Amino acid sequence: MINIIGIGPNRENITISALKALEESDVIIGYKKYIDSISDLIEGKEVIRKGMGDEISRGELAIAKSLEGKKVAIISSGDPGVYGMANLMFQLISKYKGIDVKVFPGVSAVNFAADILGAPLHDFAVISLSDILTPLCEIEKKIEYAAKADFIIAIYNPISKTRKEPFKRFKEILKETKDSKTLIGIVNSKEDPNNPKKLIITLEDFENIDENDENYINMSTTLIVGNSLTYLDVDSNGNSYLITPRGYVIKSDIHSLSEQFYTKFLKGETPSGPNKKCEYYPCHNESQCCDAQCCDFCYCPFYPCGDSSTGGKWIKDKNVWSCQDCMWIHNEKTIQCIKEKLSDILEKPEDLILKKKQLLKLRRACILETKNNIT
Ligand code: SF4
Ligand code: SF4
Repeated sequence: MINIIGIGPNRENITISALKALEESDVIIGYKKYIDSISDLIEGKEVIRKGMGDEISRGELAIAKSLEGKKVAIISSGDPGVYGMANLMFQLISKYKGIDVKVFPGVSAVNFAADILGAPLHDFAVISLSDILTPLCEIEKKIEYAAKADFIIAIYNPISKTRKEPFKRFKEILKETKDSKTLIGIVNSKEDPNNPKKLIITLEDFENIDENDENYINMSTTLIVGNSLTYLDVDSNGNSYLITPRGYVIKSDIHSLSEQFYTKFLKGETPSGPNKKCEYYPCHNESQCCDAQCCDFCYCPFYPCGDSSTGGKWIKDKNVWSCQDCMWIHNEKTIQCIKEKLSDILEKPEDLILKKKQLLKLRRACILETKNNIT
């Protein structure tokens, strides 16, 4: 019997089923660093520590011990199925008859990094930059398509002492495909796996990270590249979080002024483009906003959208959603995108509440169209 056991990113995050499987195993085989991290859990067992890059000999040894009738645990950090030992073991075991195998999942680096960063994952792609077994052209293609499809992208194995080129190409592809304000979370567990360093930066700052600077980017680093909706949230203690909203509807009433606005809007009686007759024009700082602040959605049809991906935020302890920093809604391209579909949804002002889910989906679609280089 071979148990392929994921021990997660560190000892504190091992699962109960993995613990039980370790307990029931006679022989424990693994990379020495991983074995050392769980040494107190495997006292009294036959323990075989192997070096980095020794995966095949670890697997063959596990098979040999199993054929002797022993219960063997082969250890993976993270999850055995995510760049871990499970794949290799199934490949090796297929040569033999009568070996039972069971895989015990572990917390993979993407889950751990995401939880350290906040809540950045929505639909996401996981890509390893290791070109030891995978050609660089395949890695490049996957990064490019994932970036263009606006997937959140988690990166494993970004760099090693001898392997810098894939990281360089990764940065170049992001530069070609993503907005320079795209947020990137960096989680580095090298010094302390239980308390990793974290950093959240924009793509334009990320581009300045040197391939040779191991301070943040090394073999123990996981990167998470946000999508067009991912935003930075800072709590009242100054802690930063990377958040990708899912689009939940925040319950609200229609403000009477908004109702009046949409009664006129639906009759085509509201101004289009910059409303320079308005005494508040421009109510947003024009230089921050766009060439000219368009006032078509003086009252936003998505209010309150409840996510900060376009700059809005809650005024803390007041239960008021502020759109003061949302320039996106006053941009010509945004307005064009929204207007193309809005008439299919909005037939009467009450639909602002009744069809809020559809409206928020339209908002997402227009953010994707206007904030990313998607063609
Ligand atoms: S968005 Fe509304 S309040 Fe602001 S300048 Fe335009 S018309 Fe005036
Ligand atoms: S103006 Fe911007 S922040 Fe405010 S509700 Fe609309 S999309 Fe959200």
